[in-house]
Amino acid sequence: MNLWDATLNSKPVERASLRTTEEVDVAIIGAGFTGLWSAYHLLSNKPDLKIAVIEKERVGFGASGRNGGWVSALYPSEMGADLVTPHLIQSIADIGVFASKYAPDANFQKGGSLTIARNSGQLKRLKNNIGSATFLNQSETLAKVQFNGALGSLFTPDCATMHPGRFVQALANHLEQLGARIYEKSPALRNTDHKVGTPSGALIATTVISATEAFAKGSRERIPLYSLMVATEPINEKIWDQIGLSNGESFAEASHLVTYGQRTADDRLAVGGRGAPYLFGSLMRSAAENNSRIHDQIIAMVRSWFPPLVNTQFTHRWGGAVSVTRDWQPFANLNQVTGEEKDSELTKLPFVNHTPPLWEPEPLRWLGVNSVVKLTDFADREEAATNQPSLLAKALSKVTGN
Ligand SMILES: Cc1cc2nc3c(=O)[nH]c(=O)nc-3n(C[C@H](O)[C@H](O)[C@H](O)COP(=O)(O)OP(=O)(O)OC[C@H]3O[C@@H](n4cnc5c(N)ncnc54)[C@H](O)[C@@H]3O)c2cc1C
Repeated sequence: MNLWDATLNSKPVERASLRTTEEVDVAIIGAGFTGLWSAYHLLSNKPDLKIAVIEKERVGFGASGRNGGWVSALYPSEMGADLVTPHLIQSIADIGVFASKYAPDANFQKGGSLTIARNSGQLKRLKNNIGSATFLNQSETLAKVQFNGALGSLFTPDCATMHPGRFVQALANHLEQLGARIYEKSPALRNTDHKVGTPSGALIATTVISATEAFAKGSRERIPLYSLMVATEPINEKIWDQIGLSNGESFAEASHLVTYGQRTADDRLAVGGRGAPYLFGSLMRSAAENNSRIHDQIIAMVRSWFPPLVNTQFTHRWGGAVSVTRDWQPFANLNQVTGEEKDSELTKLPFVNHTPPLWEPEPLRWLGVNSVVKLTDFADREEAATNQPSLLAKALSKVTGN
């Protein structure tokens, strides 16, 4: 089971489904962070807006309630990163303010983040990409975390950790206090620019926001990629003294296959990684969230990072899908303009009204994506074997745009 669902402080509110036809200013499809923050910011600007959110399962059912709990300023694409990053850094502070007022039990802690090199190839890559981070040598790294084999790391202060399950629940509860309505078990079946139909009701809206991320179907503009996570039982203080992370730093190995970890507020390690296969035709299946081969690989990786965990139990395994575009750029598009449209620094950011290139049709997509996943793993092995930055990874980045 998902650690975050298993460690909510109270039973989450169960909300009714939409049973009538309602007229609203804004209809939002999907009660994850994108949908809920959209509602929050709209209501912050215009408190009298009538907003309804419809969710096919329950608040936080998607990646928002299953993720690694990093509140980070990492941007997945180099394109436009210089313009977007200052806003991402500001949003960490804003989320911190929200957390302290309305979600104190989400344990938001801004401890920064470490990307740790375990071989000379990784170390060379880190040194070539220091950017605004601080390079920590081996002893400075080990003083923060006793990561087996660490040779050095990059540290950025621009990352916090939190309990995403508690946070997404608190955000939804707060929105209802602001006057938004949230309907659960209400899948949008058909939607146009002004109407969303569900099995038992409908929303007629001036504006419809679709915030279904990896669940959006039937288009080649994005694909669902699974990321899998594991968490340990609460770890005793004696072992934590041998590991470190005492300031709540999140951490990752500087491998090409993405990894991410945090020490939770209840003293567990929660760690995730990519590497799960992409399913033909962009299918989503709960079996893909519970791929025992990948979960076992992640557990073996965590034990290799932290040998004192040899007898520690891994009590939770889960996963979820993230949406990936062909150029790794996120996008937020407005189909039609009704009434006032305000230009601001934010509307000029590169992901606004960005049209990502389409993914290849099947079966090329399946072949291509799964080959890249396998070759990325191979690139990490190459780096560990040669102690040089992987040439394969360099070639792959030209193909993937990442
Ligand atoms: C395992 C994992 C770890 C991650 N770790 C991190 C991390 O540490 N830091 C980070 O920043 N990001 C992380 N991510 C990515 C991040 O969690 C997501 O990008 C983010 O949560 C997406 O939010 P969202 O609201 O757009 O989508 P989601 O949270 O997926 O929400 C979409 C919602 O839409 C609903 N929905 C779908 N179809 C319909 C429909 N037809 N009608 C009504 N509702 C519908 C779904 O049920 C879902 O609740 C991680 C993702 C995963 C899977």
